[in-house]
Amino acid sequence: MRKLFFRTALTAEGWQDSVAISVDRNGDISDLEYGVSPPSAWDGDIALPGLPNLHSHGFQRGMAGLAEYAMPGQNSFWSWRETMYRFVQSVEPEQLSAITALAYAEMLESGFTSVAEFHYLHNQKDGTSYKDPGEMACGAIAAAESAGIGLTLLPVFYAHSDFGGAEPNPDQRRFVNSIDNFQALVASCQHAMRDSDGVVGIAPHSLRAVSIKDLEHVSSLAEGPVHIHIAEQAKEVERCLQWSGMRSIDLLFNSAEINSRWCLVHATHASNAEYAKIARSGAVVGLCPVTEANLGDGLFDLRGFLGLGGRIGVGTDSNILISATEELRWLEYGQRLKHQARNIISDEIRSSGANLFHHARLGGAQACGRPIGSLEPEMRADIIVLKSEAVSLAHRKGDSLLDTWIFACPGREVDSVWVGGVQVVCDGKHVRRAEIEKNSGLQWIACSQTRSLTCRYRPLSSPRF
Ligand SMILES: [Zn+2]
Repeated sequence: MRKLFFRTALTAEGWQDSVAISVDRNGDISDLEYGVSPPSAWDGDIALPGLPNLHSHGFQRGMAGLAEYAMPGQNSFWSWRETMYRFVQSVEPEQLSAITALAYAEMLESGFTSVAEFHYLHNQKDGTSYKDPGEMACGAIAAAESAGIGLTLLPVFYAHSDFGGAEPNPDQRRFVNSIDNFQALVASCQHAMRDSDGVVGIAPHSLRAVSIKDLEHVSSLAEGPVHIHIAEQAKEVERCLQWSGMRSIDLLFNSAEINSRWCLVHATHASNAEYAKIARSGAVVGLCPVTEANLGDGLFDLRGFLGLGGRIGVGTDSNILISATEELRWLEYGQRLKHQARNIISDEIRSSGANLFHHARLGGAQACGRPIGSLEPEMRADIIVLKSEAVSLAHRKGDSLLDTWIFACPGREVDSVWVGGVQVVCDGKHVRRAEIEKNSGLQWIACSQTRSLTCRYRPLSSPRF
């Protein structure tokens, strides 16, 4: 048992001053006391519950910045996906692990203390399974252990290239599994995480990649949360309508029992009736505003959905940029640009920053399926501390601290971070950053220099690949 002392903290009972948080030997919060004095120095000035990152593809951090170059024809999510497919062909297990470890260290330094890893890169370069089908997934698990971030691992089932069970194309060979092999993959993940406090869930990739027939069965292969990409692109909804006569989210609700175990990632292109269905189901919508902006996906109707009582959280998705405050800021700014208005997310909580933080921590915790996102007994001791010496935060109190941090700070204000009571960030830097960065840098360069990226402007069907 140890105690951490903070001058002020956002607890489950609101903002409190002079707070002691007791952490038990399992890394859970056992007690909170207010109005206390530390035996020596404070452990930090402004303490917040760590934010859950509900959607990440860790290895994609290695291609960040490589798809910002106009390709011939229409540049869109689909052309970005071609670059990603080429990058994927160069990634070995040790590279995936090293790149992902650095991504996780960056998440921790930005204020995310846990991550839901939507892991779909499973097979060898020729498309055959590794001897252990969970070889690549274990790379992500090792990355989380190395960085010390809380993990919800979501092994992805991927079988088809389009609605109606279309054959996967050759560029998808590293993602594709039979049901039997996928079952072995999930078992491998569960075995690898048996001694951790992490959770294994399941991710049917999308309604393009998973047939309706397999959807429910696949979703039952683990007890943790179920995540799915849905309605990210207008073209995807159109294809779904053509094939099934239903919009994507309608088809999903028609095909499986959607409840609070589910996280619908993006849900960008939805009708009001679809938003109402999601809100009633208790599922979380996973929003990734920085990636959605980067990919030109479109804008989710945040105001409408929250008005229906919907639940949301945020994720870093492609990891083009890893920043908790950027995700929250752009969640609100996208809506301001759309509605030509301000403080869109505010309701009974008047502060936009407090409202964004409130939704992201609760929705994120639900989507990760772990006891996180709140400073109260029985939750993991996942705590972030902001630097009070940051000039902009120096004279703020209560919710205005969140407003200022999210909207008015450059993103270097996280001073220290504890995950499960273990300190992983000190003075704004991950405690193992030098080692993780060195290892990742070598692997990162190895991936980026492969022929697959230097030849990225050739069509995918080229026999050169
Ligand atoms: Zn994604």
